[in-house]
Amino acid sequence: MAGDGAPPAGEHPYAGHVEGLAPVAFLGHGNPMNALERNRFTEAWRAFGAAAGRPRAILAVSAHWFVDATAVTAMARPRTIHDFYGFPDELFAVEYPAPGSPEVAAEVVAALSPRWVGLDHDSWGIDHGTWSVLVHAFPAADVPVVQLSVHAGQPVEYHLELGNRLAPLRREGVVVVASGNVVHNLRLLDWSRPDGAFDWATRFDQAARRQLVDDPAGLAALAGHRDFALAAPTPDHFLPLAYLAGMAAADGERPAPLVDGYAYGSLSMACYTLGVVTPTGGPQGEGGAPSAIPADPTSVPPGETHL
Ligand code: ZN
Repeated sequence: MAGDGAPPAGEHPYAGHVEGLAPVAFLGHGNPMNALERNRFTEAWRAFGAAAGRPRAILAVSAHWFVDATAVTAMARPRTIHDFYGFPDELFAVEYPAPGSPEVAAEVVAALSPRWVGLDHDSWGIDHGTWSVLVHAFPAADVPVVQLSVHAGQPVEYHLELGNRLAPLRREGVVVVASGNVVHNLRLLDWSRPDGAFDWATRFDQAARRQLVDDPAGLAALAGHRDFALAAPTPDHFLPLAYLAGMAAADGERPAPLVDGYAYGSLSMACYTLGVVTPTGGPQGEGGAPSAIPADPTSVPPGETHL
């Protein structure tokens, strides 16, 4: 870790990760203000990063690069993108100056072949779906980061397949961090319930957990769940989960819950990992309520904040 004064992550007594196999995480990022906070979610992200050690590179799959193509950032110096509205200046001042890696971008293209992947040299960078979690998980920002877009025109099965194809990169020292939210409905955000959940949100979140842990390869079945339309009115935050599920299926692994919880009624903060060693085998992620500070709900309609 970076020696930044982080308190010990006592809830996550990780021994490290599986030798020779870089770990994977799906991190529910929630409110971008989590980048500036310390709460039980950010502590869980830190525990994951500590267990990952110092990987060769990080491949980030972000809900916030939701475009009509699969693309990977290939620039040597990706910029930090502040892709949201209505938040304090302090959040716009956050920089995540990790280098890129044209070499790893080329490896991603090769791994996903024959699926077409665009090399992005000058368009995107590191968006807040990525940096709001990496500032905690890898605070030194010294591990090269490449970002993969989420193809908006493809079904869950396509994203599972891509996860499957990316699995061998774990043996090349590439940690994969998929960032989204299992439940994400900005139209129904309720700022008065900072750690609460609507019944439908809890139902879907628990169904997703059962599906992931029991049969990650069958993740697409969740698109038929009765609450899917409320949980994922647009699939941008849900689809990154398919990358973790696809990698789990490729290696015959079962995703492990890292932490769970809710925010503002209609966001699930659930996080999952692959390849992290937990010697105690005990429950992960129990603790107090998050202390997330909501954005000013009067300045920007919740549905337009781009959380
Ligand atoms: Zn988001």
